Amino acid sequence: MDCIFCKIAAGEIPSKRVYEDSDVLAFYDINPQAPVHILIIPKAHIGGADEITRENGAAAGQCLAAAAGIARDLGINDFRVVTNNGASAGQTVRHLHFHLLAGRELGDMITPGPCPLPPDS
Ligand code: 5GP
Ligand code: ZN
Repeated sequence: MDCIFCKIAAGEIPSKRVYEDSDVLAFYDINPQAPVHILIIPKAHIGGADEITRENGAAAGQCLAAAAGIARDLGINDFRVVTNNGASAGQTVRHLHFHLLAGRELGDMITPGPCPLPPDS
């Protein structure tokens, strides 16, 4: 499969690895948006959050456990974990990944924008 993060997991594309176990790999983002910006991926390909199922979902949980462990190891108490799903949500790499962001004031979680109330509210 022509997937850049599968290639990173396989070591075919170099990355600065932070943490690794049999299911999960964490590496520094190539274009950091915060002083700490680490990507955490399942080694087995899952396209995005929309492909998480009861069958493969343990890997997503392992990614979150890895994020917490990395934060502890780095002595970070305040951090954000986020995943983008789909192009309009900002997903550019179609392999599930969690961004671990820390080291600066992270501000609002989402950029303010139009948010019409649902018709029956
Ligand atoms: P997304 O936009 O899909 O939520 O996040 C993809 C992230 O992957 C981006 O933050 C981007 O900087 C990062 N990225 C893309 N290609 C590479 C790469 O080859 N190496 C590393 N370390 N990060 C990458
Ligand atoms: Zn992949």
